[in-house]
Amino acid sequence: MMNETSNFIKTIVQNDIESGKVKNVITRFPPEPNAYLHIGHARAIITDFEIAEAFNGETNLRFDDTNPAKEDEEFVDAIINDIEWLGYHPKKICYGSDYFDTKYEMAIRLIKKGLAYVDEQTPEEIVANRGNFNESGKNSPWRDRSIEENLELFENMKNGMYKEGEKVLRAKIDMSSPNINMRDPILYRILFMHHHRQKDKWCIYPMYDFAHPLQDSIEGVTHSLCSIEFENHRPLYDWVVKECEMEHVPQQIEFGRLNIENTVLSKRYLRELVSLGFVEGYDDPRMPTLVGLKRRGYTPSAIKNFVKASGLSKVNSTISLSMLEHFVREDLKLKAKRIMAVTNPLLLIIDNYEEGKVEYVEAINNQENPELGERLMAFSKYLYINKDDFILEKPNKKWKRLALNVEVRLMYAYFIKAVSVDYDEDGNIEAVHCTYDPETKSGSGFDIRKPNGTLTFVEKTTAKKALFNIFEPLFIEGSEGKDFKDRINHNSWYTYEGYVEKAKDEFNELESFQFIRDGYYTVDKNSNNDNLIFNQTVALKSSFK
Ligand code: ATP
Ligand code: MG
Repeated sequence: MMNETSNFIKTIVQNDIESGKVKNVITRFPPEPNAYLHIGHARAIITDFEIAEAFNGETNLRFDDTNPAKEDEEFVDAIINDIEWLGYHPKKICYGSDYFDTKYEMAIRLIKKGLAYVDEQTPEEIVANRGNFNESGKNSPWRDRSIEENLELFENMKNGMYKEGEKVLRAKIDMSSPNINMRDPILYRILFMHHHRQKDKWCIYPMYDFAHPLQDSIEGVTHSLCSIEFENHRPLYDWVVKECEMEHVPQQIEFGRLNIENTVLSKRYLRELVSLGFVEGYDDPRMPTLVGLKRRGYTPSAIKNFVKASGLSKVNSTISLSMLEHFVREDLKLKAKRIMAVTNPLLLIIDNYEEGKVEYVEAINNQENPELGERLMAFSKYLYINKDDFILEKPNKKWKRLALNVEVRLMYAYFIKAVSVDYDEDGNIEAVHCTYDPETKSGSGFDIRKPNGTLTFVEKTTAKKALFNIFEPLFIEGSEGKDFKDRINHNSWYTYEGYVEKAKDEFNELESFQFIRDGYYTVDKNSNNDNLIFNQTVALKSSFK
């Protein structure tokens, strides 16, 4: 089931099974519940779930909620929903914070083994004494205090006897290690903060590098898959599992992150876009969040196919936005009904058509997928076409639309010819008068004469009024490298008022359609049958304009 390009992880897992090292594959997706998921996370989710699935294993959703600062129940619920929406079902939903007791015990175990100590250097001193790539670090003056003293001080830390930043618990590893992560990393710090699940039970919180391997081990995770920036943390991961004498030994494997051209995929920036009001919310259709993409009309299969096609390797990859768009077009191509809408209406009056009469012509819902059936489309004396489908005088041979004294076919209906124009007081074209040829019903006049193109239209009296949201990228093209706030395209959401044919009685939220000659559109969450709102999911690549 997995894409061949993801084979490097699959091969490792396969080998582990064949060698007997692993029996039941268990993976986990470990988001920090501090924002909504974005399309980059989809790569991690797909990898975690599908690797396990390929070996009849299991995947847990584990909230990495050991940092109390930014966590929120709203994000927990949103993440659960997003994963279900993508079509994955976690075996268990776990919370890193549920294991705080075990982590505390493990910290004591390390102290007792002489492998952890309470440091009293200031945060600034700790940073300064850590050294850098060229310089090894300096031992803390508190590094060699006795096990008894460390046990007592750590207990005092837990009991709230010190201020934040006054003391930390550090692993005693090697201040001159070439890997800076191994230079006596901090295991616990003091934070007088309310935790979303643990409430006020704790005032010391474990650091990610200490908590994560323990969580994986406790849950029996066999393959802990994560993005490449954790590669340098792997020695510490292994150290924690080993020195805490954890029964179960998980294996961390890293893969490259997925980035999308001219798109910001970082929770910090996504949070800022929301909090500074640059977007409507996390589900703004311009956002690269899963909820944003969903509202825009992206389907789970479009996202999965895109992510799989992007491949999986050890290096980060940046994929073009057009590739993402390609996959949603591909997915909607056969699924979406192709109907007609007019986003910028111009009234047509068919002079030789009977006043008050409405007739119905047959229309095919999707020429490439007969299963979607047919529908009836209204036609009458009053119609709308798009403004840019009409011009007074045909400018050149390439103009395959309507002009005065030029005949076009209205798709599924008749040939019409423009004969005159009404103007409003300001001299703008208000309506175009046409004549139709009753002999050409359903476009059957092709053998008689060739019209100057085919137009889409809607019938005025039956059409439904609608708003059409059209989006541009949220970031100005080529603005990479500039300050985040200067990159924002403030004109990236346009709304047009127009009409959609009454192809159904009700247009339901998240239903997608192809508006012929225009693009794919999806019914917005704020839409209802009195106020229809469509979001343009993606424009058609080549319309027959
Ligand atoms: P961000 O950088 O957006 O803040 P994060 O890595 O801090 O993301 P987490 O909630 O920790 O967010 O992510 C959960 C998992 O998703 C991690 O294992 C992380 O490696 C993975 N992940 C996050 N972003 C990407 C990405 N762009 N491509 C692939 N995997 C990702
Ligand atoms: Mg993270």
